[in-house]
Amino acid sequence: MLIFYLLLVLFGLIIGSFLNVIIYRLPRGESIVLPPSHCPQCEHRLTWLDLFPVLSFIFLQGRCRYCRAKINRRYPLTELLTGGLTLLWWFHYGAYGLSLENIAFLVLTYVLIAIAFIDWEQQIIPNRLTLPLIVLGLALAALQGALVPALVGALAGGGFLLIIALVYPKGMGFGDVKLLAMTGIFLGWRTVLISLFLGSVLGVLVTLPLLILKKINRKTSIAFGPFLAIGTLLIMYINMPLYPW
Ligand SMILES: [Zn+2]
Repeated sequence: MLIFYLLLVLFGLIIGSFLNVIIYRLPRGESIVLPPSHCPQCEHRLTWLDLFPVLSFIFLQGRCRYCRAKINRRYPLTELLTGGLTLLWWFHYGAYGLSLENIAFLVLTYVLIAIAFIDWEQQIIPNRLTLPLIVLGLALAALQGALVPALVGALAGGGFLLIIALVYPKGMGFGDVKLLAMTGIFLGWRTVLISLFLGSVLGVLVTLPLLILKKINRKTSIAFGPFLAIGTLLIMYINMPLYPW
């Protein structure tokens, strides 16, 4: 069993490494497959020795092997988070059966990780992540004959933020609206409202000390997406398994 868990974590680490590529390239409009991975500083092509999740970062002491430029700490962080959540996913969902919806929860987890980092770094939530998941979620719900609860979930999450985005366009982007609509489709209206609440509390807990310490001011724009994504992941993995359908 231990070997199985280790393989599961390794799988998660590799997915995390792929998520890093998405996090860097998607908001920049670059292709995800080409060109092969290279150092953004010296553009030297990277081999698997440079790309092995977490361990390469440790052995290279967080620097590029060729030009010694610092590697963003987000790389090992994404990999560890993805590896850890993949294992947690198994205990919360996978072990109960590899049904379509349980696998969809894993995909949702991975997309939430990517969205959290992209929005944090680039202040954007790419449609290329939210829209496919919205379609996938609706298709799965339709298959289960649960299209209505899924749509209610989308409305509860997305609708609430849509009103804020329309009233106060500077504070809330439409990316957040689509993110929460996506979450609502997968998790249902009750859970999406809790994740909105958790995300808001987290947002205040993180930004208030920064405001007080004057690390940021009122005009600094802080992305809301990462907090929403973390709030959703907290519910998905701290609570008991959720079965919205
Ligand atoms: Zn380099």
